[in-house]
Amino acid sequence: MNDDLTSQYTIPNYRRYDFWPERGQGAYVWDRDGKKYLDFAGGVAVNPLGHCHPEVVAAVKGQVEKLIHVSNWFQIPQQGELAKVLVEEILQIPGKCFFGNSGAEANEGLIKLARRYGVLKTKADGSPRYEILTFTGSFHGRTFATMSATAQEKIHGGFGPLVPGFTYLPFNDVAALKAAVNENTVGILLEPVQGESGVNPATAEFLRAAAALRDEHDLVLLFDEIQCGLGRAGHTAGWRCIVPGDEIRPDGVSFAKSIGSGYALGAFWARDRSIGDAAGTSLSDILGAGSHGSTYGGSPLACVTALATLEVILRDKLPEHAQKMGAMIAETAGGWNLPALTAVRAFGFMIGFQLNVQRIEANEEFKASGQLASLWIAQKCLDAGLVSVPAGPKVIRWLAPLNTTEAEVAEGLEIFRGVLAAV
Ligand SMILES: *Cc1c(COP(=O)(O)O)cnc(C)c1O
Repeated sequence: MNDDLTSQYTIPNYRRYDFWPERGQGAYVWDRDGKKYLDFAGGVAVNPLGHCHPEVVAAVKGQVEKLIHVSNWFQIPQQGELAKVLVEEILQIPGKCFFGNSGAEANEGLIKLARRYGVLKTKADGSPRYEILTFTGSFHGRTFATMSATAQEKIHGGFGPLVPGFTYLPFNDVAALKAAVNENTVGILLEPVQGESGVNPATAEFLRAAAALRDEHDLVLLFDEIQCGLGRAGHTAGWRCIVPGDEIRPDGVSFAKSIGSGYALGAFWARDRSIGDAAGTSLSDILGAGSHGSTYGGSPLACVTALATLEVILRDKLPEHAQKMGAMIAETAGGWNLPALTAVRAFGFMIGFQLNVQRIEANEEFKASGQLASLWIAQKCLDAGLVSVPAGPKVIRWLAPLNTTEAEVAEGLEIFRGVLAAV
């Protein structure tokens, strides 16, 4: 088929598996040879309802025949409807939303929000505050600012000077966080559950310390919920899997991935919080007309797709279901006693299986493969009919659809156990 065209005509920036999915339904995909797989990669958290959910398909079809795109010069009522769901039902904290097209673009918006705040609420000498604290193991995107925000050298490599104004701190180190805040600091940006670096949660103590420092030093507290949000981690708001209820109130939250069931959409939310000026301006209003924008962002088609997706997530109580399934996976896999697996971290359907790399390195076939342990295991899973993704060199990650049934979970666990037992 087109194997050669991809390598000949597309930039070789992805390390792709020799896996050619052709169609999907729910938690299953079929490759071009007709082989069936259970898909627990879930498009890296992009498919919360699995492949081609009928209500999403119907919403797309209905809108595609009515109006696909209009400019943000004009009224797009679906943006208001979608923002209302994010504010009232997902976050349940008053605020306002902006719509773009990707996770990186959503985080760019949060970074601009923080920088703008630092221009309005300056240092004592009247110059802007601009420094944003970010954390080891984070991933915030591949644009210049979000790559610079990402505290991982392997993401920075080879592009010359980064965007200034980010300070990297060890994740979950409260003392280091307290010590780092200075007169230039304006914001703290973190993933409540880090995804790309291996499903690593913030501690409750760390989130509380960040919120307290925000209050004490007039900062903005920004949560990147692109991977852990929208029900993925077992709560509509991801950080509530760590500190439940209303105790922690971030000032900005970014969304993408699960929001659009695969239709490109990203969003950020800013809280209705007075910035303390004479006019009583709200943080959610400081990006005024002309300050930010996105040509494609929040098209009627994108918004309708997201509305259909979120409606099913909320109506079918999928966050609670994910919580239950995550607990079941952790319990089952935790009892396997397989030497290749050292730990399971499950937050709803955001699951990291920590591999025993030394054990895998002893395998002769692995030695010959020249691969990283997680990539090699992911290939073994593919061979066995299970799609998963690595998260760093030592972790296999499942981001299964939030509506994956108990029987499908049991099927996936059985395949995975077989793969791990064989190495
Ligand atoms: C995927 C991801 C991003 C980047 O999203 P893109 O849509 O690829 O730009 C940012 N932050 C987190 C936590 C992510 O998982």
